[in-house]
Amino acid sequence: MAQEVRVRFAPSPTGALHIGGARTAYFNWLFARKHGGKFVLRIDDTDRARSTEASYQQILEGLRWLGILWDEGPDVGGPYGPYRQSERMDIYRRHLDRLLAEDKAYPCFCTPEELARDREAAQREGKPPRYVGRCRHLSPEERSRRIAAGEPHVYRIRSRFEGETVVHDLIRGDVAFANSEIDDFIIWKADDTPTYHFASCVDDVEMKISHVIRAEEHLSNTPRHIVLFEALGAEPPAFAHVPMILAPDRSKLSKRHGATSVSEYRDMGILPEALVNYLLLLGFSPGDDREIVDRETAIQLFDLEKVAKHAAIYDVKKLEWLNAHYFRQQSPEAVMDEAWPQLVERGYVAEDECRREVLMWVRTVIAFVQTRSRNLQELVDGVRPYFEPVRAYDEKGVRKHFAHPETASRLRTVADRLAGVAPFLAPVIEREFRRWIEEMGVKSGELIHPVRLAITGLTVGPGLFDVIALVGRDEAVRRLREAADRVEAGEVVTE
Ligand code: GLU
Repeated sequence: MAQEVRVRFAPSPTGALHIGGARTAYFNWLFARKHGGKFVLRIDDTDRARSTEASYQQILEGLRWLGILWDEGPDVGGPYGPYRQSERMDIYRRHLDRLLAEDKAYPCFCTPEELARDREAAQREGKPPRYVGRCRHLSPEERSRRIAAGEPHVYRIRSRFEGETVVHDLIRGDVAFANSEIDDFIIWKADDTPTYHFASCVDDVEMKISHVIRAEEHLSNTPRHIVLFEALGAEPPAFAHVPMILAPDRSKLSKRHGATSVSEYRDMGILPEALVNYLLLLGFSPGDDREIVDRETAIQLFDLEKVAKHAAIYDVKKLEWLNAHYFRQQSPEAVMDEAWPQLVERGYVAEDECRREVLMWVRTVIAFVQTRSRNLQELVDGVRPYFEPVRAYDEKGVRKHFAHPETASRLRTVADRLAGVAPFLAPVIEREFRRWIEEMGVKSGELIHPVRLAITGLTVGPGLFDVIALVGRDEAVRRLREAADRVEAGEVVTE
């Protein structure tokens, strides 16, 4: 690409960073990285009533957490700042003044009542609502007089009426819009602030944006933007409109379909790497069946032409599956670090624990449970049997596995024998166990299931011999004896 690639993500800070926005940001970021260009973060906060500082902070935090970092932006600065539209009012005003001087824009004094009447009339005639042009040809004297008299007014751009405007969209191909549908639209509001269209185009010109990659909902704004770029005397950037994200029932994705904001995913234990991988798959196919695409590979593969034209369907199962993959790929130390506050909260470890053997043991437990967990929550729940005595036994399990009249005596036998096993390692325990099964003349399940229930309180879990080895000899023996006592006394507490 001859021209320097400069793209921007331009969120309006009016709420949380949603996955749709995060995906737009990621696609822009990938495109910039792929072409050695710049990724600009611009905050579209001209709507003072709806913009909030909290939302601004959330957007920055969310992007940072996802590792979608910007080269230029409100906090890091850059050559074309400031990067918050609310701080660029003098720039917009300068451009407005120029358009007025060149007679490319004009003040409009039509009242809301007049405009409502025009709309009704158009509707009666079955025509699309468009500005009738009442103020288009006022004399310069009349304009000045009415402005000086303090008459409320907006500014409109002189649009075109004949022919069509073709948007060359890098995802959708050419999309033609009849110019009769574009009217002299408002670029400056009565409250003396620019409209989104105007501020956005001025910034895209001033910030030398080469490619506008944004949500599909803005495709219908693009012919207006092309009018504006021309009025501003600039070559329009290239455009790419990214398809919508729909819920599985093809309705608009909303709260009722579960988490939609980046911070909610983070709180659910979704990893940033999993989320960006998922964002990529929402509308982009790498061209083969692969679904695990990390950031570096995504940079290599990314191509706007491979972005789907049709809507992407949100699939939380896919996200969870990806999360499991990335979760298991982390080092046990990283997981331990993340899990530590929760382990402390549950009383499993002391916050300031520093004994090497304890830390090594916790690491071993985590490494063991991590391979069987899909996320941090499952891991923290899954390590319970190694830190806590059994408080209650699985109810169904009790009915099934503690019912045999010889349960207590079998558990005691295993306890006694386990007390003599050395070294206390999973393969040794397994070998011994198999021998006891034969000697006792029982089926393996008749011993394995009650023992698992006695030691973990659960009916399912990782390989029993690994579990016993990790719980440790003294504790395993103690739990077996305790379960035997409870079974005998008929005092099994179930959950
Ligand atoms: N502030 C607009 C939005 O959040 C940006 C649209 C654009 O990229 O031009 O939808």
